[in-house]
Order: sequence, then C-alpha cells, then structure tokens
Amino acid sequence: MRICADCFDDDEIKQFIENSSEEEGLCDCCHKESNLIDLSLLFDHFIEFLNLFTCDSNGFDLVEKVQMDWHPFKSEEYARIILGEIINKNRFTFSLSDKVSYVSDMSECFGVWDELKREVRESTRFFSKSIGSFPWANYVGPNVKIPKGTHLFRSRIIPSGKTNLSTDEMGCPPKEKATAGRANPLGIPYLYLCDKQETTFYEIRALYLDKVCVGEFVTQRDLDIVDFSQTINLFYNDSGENLIDLAMRKVLFSQISADLSKPLRRFDTGIEYVPTQLICEYCKLENADGVRFKSSLDDTGANVVLFNERDVICQRVFIKEIRDVTILSN
Ligand SMILES: [Zn+2]
Repeated sequence: MRICADCFDDDEIKQFIENSSEEEGLCDCCHKESNLIDLSLLFDHFIEFLNLFTCDSNGFDLVEKVQMDWHPFKSEEYARIILGEIINKNRFTFSLSDKVSYVSDMSECFGVWDELKREVRESTRFFSKSIGSFPWANYVGPNVKIPKGTHLFRSRIIPSGKTNLSTDEMGCPPKEKATAGRANPLGIPYLYLCDKQETTFYEIRALYLDKVCVGEFVTQRDLDIVDFSQTINLFYNDSGENLIDLAMRKVLFSQISADLSKPLRRFDTGIEYVPTQLICEYCKLENADGVRFKSSLDDTGANVVLFNERDVICQRVFIKEIRDVTILSN
C-alpha cells in the first residue's frame, strides 16, 4: 500500500513521508494525487506503538482509541484503513476488530494524575500515597535548559494613581502577600514569567486601553527546567528511550500542563491548585529551577515559573497601551 502525508495529522510522520518519498501518484488510502511512500517504511514506528495495546474483550475499539488519545491520522476512516494494513502485514496479538486496552503500566499512567488530584484534595494532603507508589522520578525531572542571558517577560497593569512601576516593583510579591497560584502555595512566592512579551498581556487579562508595565528579565545562569510543554513524538523517536516510557511521559505532561495552564477563577477556593503546587514542589526536589507550560490564554506562548526570583534580574521596564484586542470564540 502506498500512502501520502495528507493521510496523517502527526507532523513528524508527515515530514518523514515528504522527505522519504521518491514517487508521485494516487494515494491508496485517501486517493489524492500526492508524493507517496510504501507503508512498510512506517511499520517499525507503528509496531512499537501498537505494542502499547493488548487484547481485552472489555476494552475499546483500537482505531477510536488511537485517534482519540494520539490522533496520528487525518481521520478515523484513514486510521482504519492504514492500521488494518499494518496489523494484517505484521504479527500482533489482536486484530483490527478486537477490543483492546493499554498494557498495565500505560493504564496506570492514564489514571495516576487524576488519582493524585483526588487524593490531595479530598483525602491525604501532605503525604500523598500516589506520589510514593508511582515512579514519578522516571518521568518528571529537568528536561530543558534555559541558557544564561535569556530574556523573559512579566507585565502588570499600572495601578490607578501611578504612572509607572520601577524594576523593583516587577518581581514577586513579598512572602506575606503571596497568594496561592497554580504553581506556588500560599506564602511561598514564585516568579511567573512568559517567554514572549505579548503573552504577558493575555496572562494579566489586560483590557482595551489599559496601560501596562512590561518588565524585561534576564536569566543570570543556566536554569534547569521541567518543561511540561515539551513536544514528545512517539512515531519518530530518536531519543533512545523506550516507547512506553516516552508515551507515559507524554500522557503525564499533557495532563499536568493542562492543569497548570488553567486560568485562576475568582471563586476558586485554592484547593483546586494543590495538585499542581505539589507537582511543582516535586520538581523543586528534583533540582529543577522552575517549570514551563503552555499559556492557555495565548496558544503561541508559554509560561515560565521560577522558584527563586534571584535567578533573573529585571533589566528594564517599559509602558505599553493595549490598542488592539482580539476576541476569540470557540
Ligand atoms: Zn493519502
């Protein structure tokens, strides 16, 4: 079977097909004229991936599950055609029509974050069983470096009666005034920064015509960061790591990142933030200097939370007026 990049949604697979293709023609799956490769070139990638599943009469439809959790294909229809061919041409313990579930480590991984959230909110807050019984250290630890000299940003809306803020006023609030956030517990301030100036305007929810002070910070040393927004590709893995470990890290990172990104709401009691505060504290114990996660308010930017504000210096402050507001709906 010859297939094309258009049958897939996964960027790495698309790229692989474009780079490896040596012929043009009609795709046997989507029937479009395109650059083609023989599907057998993708067998190795998918065999390892499909071994994350095992036959289980009480389980799920394989195609639906693969598309829902990992969406490598453009559509469920293409997923059924291509996975059908891969399963037919290789040895698996299940067929396309069998029900499947994840192998046990993967199943546990899908539930562990939810279990930890439930436990620390409702049952045992400070000595969590879920932290002790799962090998978190294999998955959550510093995975990127932010080099010395990197510029990061933080904004504040200028309070009424003031015309400007100084570099000293752009850092963390003092301990006694530090309210709880998604990453920091009450009374323990962390510095919330963004990797782009524009993202800070969304994060502080600046409104039309608000005057905003932007602090430009510079990192004073190389920082070890747990980057929950790191792109982890399962289908083109050159890290040398087992696919199951990679898949488990991807699941945990996307769940934790989604919770870290959730905007604070006015009526939150603070209990909602305990699980993400706990995981940030765990990162601190694993010698991380901070965490990085996607901004939910600006999908092109990321937040960087530093545990120690002395790792950066606010180099300058400048004033911006919000003149353009984009309203998104979905
Ligand atoms: Zn195609």
